[in-house]
Amino acid sequence: MTMVMDDIVAREARHVLQTYRRQPVTFVRGEGVRLYDAGGREYLDLLSGIGVAALGHGHPGLARAVAEQAATLIHTSNLFYHPLQGEVAERLASLSGLPRAFFCNSGTEAVEACLKFARRYWYTKGEPRQEFIALDESFHGRTFGSLSVTSDEHYRTPFEPLLPTVTFVKTNDPAALARAVSKNTAAIIAEPVLGEGGIRPLTAAFAAAIADACAQTGVLFIADEVQSGLGRTGHPFYFKALGLQPHLVSIGKALGGGVPVGAALVSQDVADTISFGDHGTTYGGNLLACRAALCVLTELVDGGLAEQIGHVGRHFEQKLRAIAAARPALVKEVRGAGLMWGLELTRDAAEIVPAGLERGVVVNRTAETVVRLLPPLIITEPDVDEALARLDAALGAVGAAA
Ligand code: PLP
Repeated sequence: MTMVMDDIVAREARHVLQTYRRQPVTFVRGEGVRLYDAGGREYLDLLSGIGVAALGHGHPGLARAVAEQAATLIHTSNLFYHPLQGEVAERLASLSGLPRAFFCNSGTEAVEACLKFARRYWYTKGEPRQEFIALDESFHGRTFGSLSVTSDEHYRTPFEPLLPTVTFVKTNDPAALARAVSKNTAAIIAEPVLGEGGIRPLTAAFAAAIADACAQTGVLFIADEVQSGLGRTGHPFYFKALGLQPHLVSIGKALGGGVPVGAALVSQDVADTISFGDHGTTYGGNLLACRAALCVLTELVDGGLAEQIGHVGRHFEQKLRAIAAARPALVKEVRGAGLMWGLELTRDAAEIVPAGLERGVVVNRTAETVVRLLPPLIITEPDVDEALARLDAALGAVGAAA
C-alpha cells in the first residue's frame, strides 16, 4: 500500500504543477458520505470535495444519469440547441426568482460572468459605472476578474495589476458599505455566507444596507452563492434568508454533484441589456453537465432533500455547539447554517485536518483558524453523530497536545 502511495506522490512531484499542498491520502472510492482510500480504509466525509458532492459519493441516480447521458450524447457546443439546458434554467429560475441562466463550468467563471454582465448593464444604459464593491475576507475565485474582487493579498499580489476599480469594505459594517457606494458603483458583490473567509453569514443589518444601497442608487447586487447556494444552508439560497433579491447570482460547486458546471443567474432587467455574442463558452451547460444538474436539482426539490437538510442541519448544529461548549479553551465560536459550519479555534486549525484523517473524518481548515464543515447534503443524523464524534476526538487530541 505504501508503495502505491509513494508511486502516486513521486509521479505527481515530477509532472503535476505544484500548486496544491495535498494531504497524504489517496481516495479511490466513495459511497454516500463515506470515502475509502487506496488501502481500503473508511472515512466519513464532512467536506464533500469542498461543497461539491451534494448527493454524496457513488449516488446511484446520478451515476446512472451521467452514464446514460455519456452513452447517448455528451457535448455539442452552444452553437446548437439541446433538450436539457432550458430545463435546468427553468428549475433554477423557480428556485432563485431570477428568470435567466448563463451556464459555465466553475464558480470563478460564474463570478466572471456576473461581473461582465454588471458592466454590460451600465454600458447599455449609457452610464459610465465601472466600479465594484467587495468585502474584506471575500473569496470569489482565481481568474482575473474574480481575483480582483477577492481580498486575500496572498492570492492577489503575485498577479497584480488586477482590476483597478474595486473597493473593499469591512464585512458586516453597514456604515462602511454606505460610505463606499458612489455614482460610479456598478455592483456590490458579496457571499451571503462568506465561505473561504471563515463561514461568516452576513448580518441582517448589513443585508439591509445592501438593499438600501440598491434602492437608493440603482447599484446592482451580485450574490455569490457558489458555496452557500442550492440548499447548503437549509435555504435554496442564503440571500433568501437575508431577505435580499439580487440582480445576479453566481452558482457552481453542488450544481453538478461533481460534474463541473456553474451558472450566472440573471434578472430580467440585466438580461435585457445582454446581446448575442456578449459572452460565451465552449463547454458551458453541455448535455452531460445539465443531466447531472437536473439530477441534483430533482433530488433537492422533488426528492425531499431540502426538508431533510433542514432537520439534519439543526441536529448538526446542536451536536457541534455541544462539542464547542465542552472545549472552550480550543473553540472560540461556531458559525454557519444548515450544513455549512465553521468552528473558529483559538489557534491555527491546520493540525485538525491530519488529526481528523487519522480518526477517519475528512474536514478542512480555512481562514487559518477555522475548521470548515461542508458535508454531503444527503448526510443523515446517525452519520452526523459518528462523524462529529470523530471530529471531537481529533479536537481532543490536538487540544491535549497544545
Ligand atoms: N465563489 C465562492 C464563494 C467560492 O467559495 C469559490 C470556491 O471556493 C469560488 C467562487 C470559485 O469557484 P471555483 O473554484 O469552482 O472556480
